[in-house]
Amino acid sequence: MGPNHDSTRLLVHGASGRMGRTVLRLCAEGVPGCTVVAAVSRSPSQRVVDGVPQFAVRELAGVPDFDVAIDFSLPEAFDPLLALCRARGAGLASGTTGLSDAQQAALDAAGTAIPVLWAANFSLGVAVLEDLVERAAAALAGWDCDIVETHHVQKKDAPSGTALVLGAAAGRAGASPRFASLRAGDVVGEHLVQFTGAGERLELVHRATSRDVFARGALLAAARLRARGPGRWRLRDLFQPA
Ligand code: NAD
Repeated sequence: MGPNHDSTRLLVHGASGRMGRTVLRLCAEGVPGCTVVAAVSRSPSQRVVDGVPQFAVRELAGVPDFDVAIDFSLPEAFDPLLALCRARGAGLASGTTGLSDAQQAALDAAGTAIPVLWAANFSLGVAVLEDLVERAAAALAGWDCDIVETHHVQKKDAPSGTALVLGAAAGRAGASPRFASLRAGDVVGEHLVQFTGAGERLELVHRATSRDVFARGALLAAARLRARGPGRWRLRDLFQPA
């Protein structure tokens, strides 16, 4: 895959969902350097929306050429999309949570051939929080570590992918985190990482108030992924310009 045209051609997978709609709205408002060439969802109701051709998952093989797929869907939709990206030599920026170990291993393998990025959370704040949690856990050996996440009632997986990533960061520094999940109203996403010692408590909190932050992070990552070439990239690699 060589970037031989100026605009990054995007395929948006999971286009009818909360996140897919957010990505498409931002693109319709105008994202410099990005053009959506196809939107894929389980069963689209129209063939073209805002000038973007719509495809059903069973029509995946027929989508036009694209440089990077942005994916916010479900684990059961993931394998055909990864296979398509490999077949087309295109990149993949996926935010789908609840992927299996086998699907994560398939992403690792795909990174030898195409640029791939999976992030449980595309916000800059959570990228920084992950780093802070690891440092706090290292400095607070022996303290209790609890991670409480709150999301809207439609969210399918629990604990959230972000909570698991934060837990892994604490675990790398020797903590054994416990998880609690709340499902309430239309909460976009909140994560509290709490370290409790004898007579004191440290709380690190991130609150997302708009899905736009995740969509903007995914769009930035997609554009940078195209420039990086094959590899399994982390969000923090891509937030730094090459
Ligand atoms: P949603 O339920 O609103 O949308 C899911 C989308 O997936 C829909 O477009 C649906 O048509 C599509 N889909 C479902 N089954 C499919 C199949 N078999 N094949 C193809 N497409 C299929 O969900 P959402 O709130 O938009 O979240 C989607 C995913 O993104 C979830 O895993 C969620 O946890 C994750 N998420 C990640 C971030 C992040 O920053 N990484 C942020 C928010 C949500």
